[in-house]
Amino acid sequence: MNRAAALKAQGVPVLSFGAGEPDFFTPDKAKIAGVKAILHNNTKYQPTAGDTETRELIARIMTERNGVPGVTKDHVLVTAGVKMALYLTMQALFDVPAPGQEAQELLLPTPAWVSFAPIGELAGAKVVQMPTTTASGFKITPAQLAAAITPLTRALLLNSPSNPCSTMYTPDELAALAEVIAAAAKTTAPGLVVVADELYQHIVFGDVPFRSIGSFTSIAERTITINGSGKSFAMTGWRIGWVSGSGAFGKRFIEGLTKLQGQTITAVPGFTMAATRAALTECDEDLDRMKHAFKRRAVVMYDALAAIPGVKLARPVGAFYVFPDVSAHFGKSTPGGVKIDSAAAFAEQLLGLHHVAVVPGEDFLGEGYKHIRLSFACDEALILEGAKRLAAFIASLK
Ligand code: PMP
Repeated sequence: MNRAAALKAQGVPVLSFGAGEPDFFTPDKAKIAGVKAILHNNTKYQPTAGDTETRELIARIMTERNGVPGVTKDHVLVTAGVKMALYLTMQALFDVPAPGQEAQELLLPTPAWVSFAPIGELAGAKVVQMPTTTASGFKITPAQLAAAITPLTRALLLNSPSNPCSTMYTPDELAALAEVIAAAAKTTAPGLVVVADELYQHIVFGDVPFRSIGSFTSIAERTITINGSGKSFAMTGWRIGWVSGSGAFGKRFIEGLTKLQGQTITAVPGFTMAATRAALTECDEDLDRMKHAFKRRAVVMYDALAAIPGVKLARPVGAFYVFPDVSAHFGKSTPGGVKIDSAAAFAEQLLGLHHVAVVPGEDFLGEGYKHIRLSFACDEALILEGAKRLAAFIASLK
């Protein structure tokens, strides 16, 4: 993305599909709540795990909307974005192995968002990839999960809807995975925990309803759910995320995270929590407006890309990305004689020659090296123009 920014700074009309955040503004009601909180001097240290009002609200949402049993405010920690939520969670779950000891394993379906593996590795986990492909809808199967769980498995990280794949598990698929997890917890991996990154929960637009994996009672207590206001409410810069658990284990887990938070960031600002409460309770119309825009754009983007020869992609049903496989064009050359031998080379030449910025898929791991990621957090005219340039670039490869 640095090269795209440099070209833009030189006045080159770069079309950017790299954005990992909504192009909408934060809803007014959330902004006003944040400003009011500042004017009312909500600008001092906050309770480490977050203020009571916000924790109670999130517990209520997890109970009533997400259907997760056994969640009270004591099962909720509010932190500085979903990245920090993941960081604290992984630090609590894993330890750097002592000399001679084997590392505990983090199961990660791939392709996956670029920070999942590094955050796990920083905590001492050995990341075990579970490969998925366009053909499997980028979803792991129960059999694949059962085969991957070993006595060393500490956690499974699920991200549905997924960045970068924009696919999501159906409730039935989640039920089948939950069954495997519950069975493994009784035998192979008693300490197994599911970490569910549900950040894109509200940006879903297929026929598949969203369901939290923590809502299955057989695994509720071993599920740690992570969410935030950044993507759904166009509030990425406010830096609010949260972690919630369930039952006795969930409460102890949140107590541990609270200690970690207390010795790192102390707490998040009160006014950003106030803005988030307004988003969660007063901004359903904004949520719908943005969701419908993403739904329309998903169709425009999918239809435009699916029509390009040698571009294979899954229809997005959640989040705001498409992740086409462009590897049919690897081995070809640009008119200037530059060989396209990877997603990185594809993205670089597309940017240099046609001024379209996309994210090459290598860093998403697994099959990602065959793919590029395009975000449709941008307007429809831009999507159509970008697809036109992508088609022209591909047509020029020989
Ligand atoms: N999880 C996923 C799946 C994401 O896509 C992102 C942002 N790109 C994050 C976590 C990080 O979210 P935040 O900005 O709230 O830290």
